[in-house]
Amino acid sequence: MNIVYQSTRGGQSGITASQAILQGLAEDGGLFMPNEIPKLDVEPEKLSSMTYQETAYEVMKLFLTDYTEEELKTCIARAYDSKFDTEEIAPLAKVGDAYYLELFHGSTIAFKDMALSILPHLMTTAAKKNHVDKEIVILTATSGDTGKAAMAGFADVPGTRIIVFYPKDGVSRIQELQMRTQKGDNTCVVAIHGNFDDAQTGVKKLFNDREFKEELAAKGFQFSSANSINIGRLVPQVVYYVYAYAKLLANEEISAGETINVVVPTGNFGNILAAYFAKRMGLPIGKLICASNDNKVLYDFFRTGTYDRNREFMLTSSPSMDILISSNLERLIYLSTGCDAEANKALMAELSRKGSYTVTPKMREAMADFWGNFASQEENAAEIKRVFTDMGYLMDTHTGVASAVYQKYVKETGDKAKTVIASTASPYKFSHSVMEAIAGPQEGKEEFALIDEMSAVSRTDVPKAVEEIRTAPIRHNRECDVEGMKAEVADILG
Ligand SMILES: *Cc1c(COP(=O)(O)O)cnc(C)c1O
Repeated sequence: MNIVYQSTRGGQSGITASQAILQGLAEDGGLFMPNEIPKLDVEPEKLSSMTYQETAYEVMKLFLTDYTEEELKTCIARAYDSKFDTEEIAPLAKVGDAYYLELFHGSTIAFKDMALSILPHLMTTAAKKNHVDKEIVILTATSGDTGKAAMAGFADVPGTRIIVFYPKDGVSRIQELQMRTQKGDNTCVVAIHGNFDDAQTGVKKLFNDREFKEELAAKGFQFSSANSINIGRLVPQVVYYVYAYAKLLANEEISAGETINVVVPTGNFGNILAAYFAKRMGLPIGKLICASNDNKVLYDFFRTGTYDRNREFMLTSSPSMDILISSNLERLIYLSTGCDAEANKALMAELSRKGSYTVTPKMREAMADFWGNFASQEENAAEIKRVFTDMGYLMDTHTGVASAVYQKYVKETGDKAKTVIASTASPYKFSHSVMEAIAGPQEGKEEFALIDEMSAVSRTDVPKAVEEIRTAPIRHNRECDVEGMKAEVADILG
């Protein structure tokens, strides 16, 4: 079956997967959606004996139908290799009565690696297929993890450049060091004086600036996006939910067809949407539990039907979820209108005009598989401490939010279905907050001293990704105001 893509706002349709990946965002500002969500066509029993790479092929071939088998398998083999510190790629840890799906074993120790290890390969393959002769410029806004993972993926990939914008005071020290020490002549990092939403809105504006794009095209450049709105990021994320289910089967934790729940610490709504796609493909998932931090826009949305970004933006101990505009939610909105692009477009116009919109009761019904809640910073820290003290498992502050919300879910609903918690970062990436959670205030302690302490108390090795930045020289010093993003891009590209 041939899958093509259309914009959630109706402006483009009949786009091939490779074109959608190259373009990133649709011309009308919408997101690309497949004309249909394909059904998994392998038996669960068969899946349970497959490697991660084999599973990836079975899932991705259904969405990326204009890639040949050879192209896709080559992309997969190059992405999921020894960059990951375990052959399992995404191991499942049973802790208490939950299963933590560890998505942080790639080169930047956060779940963004799961998709950003493969996106550069999908994109350069797409460029070849579509006879693109321009240099591809990846423009990306990051709340901390995407930027590093995208640069690691694109560094020194011929025919590409990458420019990353991050909120200057909105990322962890390790995240900042990871980005500012990034190697590769085609990489560039800019700290902006604003928050993540400012960065994301600024990048979207550049994408929609026709004049600027024409100017750059004349100089041989073409923009693309590595943000989680790119379908080339969403599709690889579906894989690990299928893989996790197969692993539960293989380990005889569940029986064939048994329904599981999934908890996802959510920011831009990409990861949890991938889980929803897996469900729509036929994977037996019951509830999709959407975990937020104090920026609890999504919790309010699922409880009331009103999405309202007019509120104070909070900096929390889970910075990769400090977001008030969850871009990928637009895809769920679109689906819940029955793929009515006009209806979706009207709601998105309302969002940009007044910062809020309300969905219809029928749309809410269509989203009934989602259950939202949030964890405050105190609840998050207490959960990290509880799980570490009682079960010896140390998790990061994003996974902590998910874990705390899962406890609330069980308490509120009594639902005892087996549950997979997406574990999105290594605790070493957020060492300060994690050490405070388990050992009290760590005022004034040096980051790497904390990392060594963490290694000692948790009896785990410091990941290679952290060892590398201990001594690496700073290579990037750019900074700009939100209004200066366009000038900065022009300057970088000469
Ligand atoms: C990006 C990120 C999230 C949020 O994922 P979304 O797909 O944006 O919802 C959660 N945790 C970590 C560690 C992340 O890097």
